[in-house]
Amino acid sequence: MYDDPADLLRRHGLQVTAQRLAVLAAVSGRPHGTADDVAKAVRTQIGVISRQAVYDALAVLADKGLIRRIQPAGSPARYEDRAGDNHHHLICRTCGRMVDVDCAVGVVPCLTPADDAGYEIDEAEVIYWGRCPECLAEHTAGSATENEAVPLPRVLHTNDDNDADRAVAHDQTNQP
Ligand SMILES: [Zn+2]
Ligand SMILES: [Zn+2]
Ligand SMILES: [Zn+2]
Repeated sequence: MYDDPADLLRRHGLQVTAQRLAVLAAVSGRPHGTADDVAKAVRTQIGVISRQAVYDALAVLADKGLIRRIQPAGSPARYEDRAGDNHHHLICRTCGRMVDVDCAVGVVPCLTPADDAGYEIDEAEVIYWGRCPECLAEHTAGSATENEAVPLPRVLHTNDDNDADRAVAHDQTNQP
């Protein structure tokens, strides 16, 4: 399944450098890490490397599609080598942990806008926000009078309950 990383760089028209190889290996070894995580891993592998060199290597690898860059709201960019398969992410609001989830639809773009405004759409970026099992367990183990557990604002139609029911039924049609 895995190609020789040096070959991979060459096949994407990139010059093979120790820094790029180390950055690629660091991203593979720690999916969804930040640039700082990558820099730390690269330093243990090849010694001194500037922050800028790490950023440059990440940018060039992402540009060539060898790695994917994800930029969740309120978080530094994360990087992973699982690129090109249109998978999505679950992110824990409490601890920030991010995990992969396959696209339920599979084809790009997996969501259809109500109106494409004439755009040729090639991707729908989907991030599921919530709480991970660990944080949920901690929450239930904690005090019963939890103040910070404010329910998420729910978008409800103003007219009647039937509309809300229909909206739920519609969501479920997106699942196989
Ligand atoms: Zn969590
Ligand atoms: Zn991922
Ligand atoms: Zn999808």
